[in-house]
Amino acid sequence: MTSFEDLPIRDDLRGLTPYGAPQDALPITINVNENPFSVPEAVALSIIQRISLTLPGLNRYPDREFTELRERLATYLGQGLTPEHIWAANGSNEVLQQLLQAFAGAGRKIMSFAPTYSMYPLLAKGVGSEWVAAPRDENFELTPELVRTAIEAERPDVVLLCTPNNPTGTPLDLETIEAAYDATDGIVVVDEAYAEFRHDGAPTALSLLEGRPRLVISRTMSKAFAFAGVRLGYFAADPAVADAVRLVRLPYHLSAITQAAAIAALEHSDTMLAQVDRIRIQRDRIVDETAALGYRPYRSDANFVLIGGVADPAVMFDEFVARGILIRNTGPADCIRVTAGTESETDAYLSALAEITAARPELQLTSSEGVSA
Ligand SMILES: *Cc1c(COP(=O)(O)O)cnc(C)c1O
Repeated sequence: MTSFEDLPIRDDLRGLTPYGAPQDALPITINVNENPFSVPEAVALSIIQRISLTLPGLNRYPDREFTELRERLATYLGQGLTPEHIWAANGSNEVLQQLLQAFAGAGRKIMSFAPTYSMYPLLAKGVGSEWVAAPRDENFELTPELVRTAIEAERPDVVLLCTPNNPTGTPLDLETIEAAYDATDGIVVVDEAYAEFRHDGAPTALSLLEGRPRLVISRTMSKAFAFAGVRLGYFAADPAVADAVRLVRLPYHLSAITQAAAIAALEHSDTMLAQVDRIRIQRDRIVDETAALGYRPYRSDANFVLIGGVADPAVMFDEFVARGILIRNTGPADCIRVTAGTESETDAYLSALAEITAARPELQLTSSEGVSA
């Protein structure tokens, strides 16, 4: 059998492995931060209606500028944003790829703060850019000083800030984002994929856009909107950023069906977001009750929690799989990551963790061991 390594592939892609979160069919999947609630029936009917209107016209290319969708997204975000400030693509992963194609690329440097979203280095590789990851502090937090020092040392062309950060859940304050912006002449992308799950009163970087033309806020309908299957991500930025991205996007990249589905969902944004509060309650419950079991959860503004104090995450992963539960164990060291799902999914996760800890106490680090460096 031919391996891709046998083909005349780019040298810098040799030896890489693709993004590969398991898609195993287990009764409880709390591994990729999906929203566990299905699309409400009333919204599903509106989506079908919208899509059915596009069907006779599918012989034509779709609206290349997805004007109505950009209007809906601007209205959803508020903050005085207009359709000119908005851009969308097939998931925020494509949004990020387009931004990197326009503002990074060969010979340029992309920087973030590790541990962070595992797709960033793959996206950087794909556009031929250098990737640098500066460290976070011992609680995976960032400060204005830490960010400023790292950016001034590395002088990146694009800075990727993820808040709340995947996989740690930790949010950034606005001062840290401002410090990053002021420390660079490059583009600063703030990935707010999980913004709708933040605690009441926590800020969003949208309020910083005014007067900062190099700042881009990326969002997605995949998580809070419970719409991961549609693939719709978007950003808000100065209109000039969207103009730059128009140079690299493929023509007609958003299908008429995608546009129709997203418009219909946005017409019902209150219904689509109705379960966010329930998920936030489970998130806070996972933090409290996991700590009560003797582990070390990190603070989270997202729909998942990073849990430290796990002696052997790979074995812990297998113990959960044996109980029909799929979690994530892709680092950092001594950590697992768990998505906040329904109340009964959280119940199942918590009783499995209690059971595993009782049966195999060696899987739990004692408080003096393995505090993350
Ligand atoms: C899930 C996630 C996304 C969303 O990706 P989509 O392509 O929009 O589904 C973006 N950024 C981060 C950090 C994520 O965890």
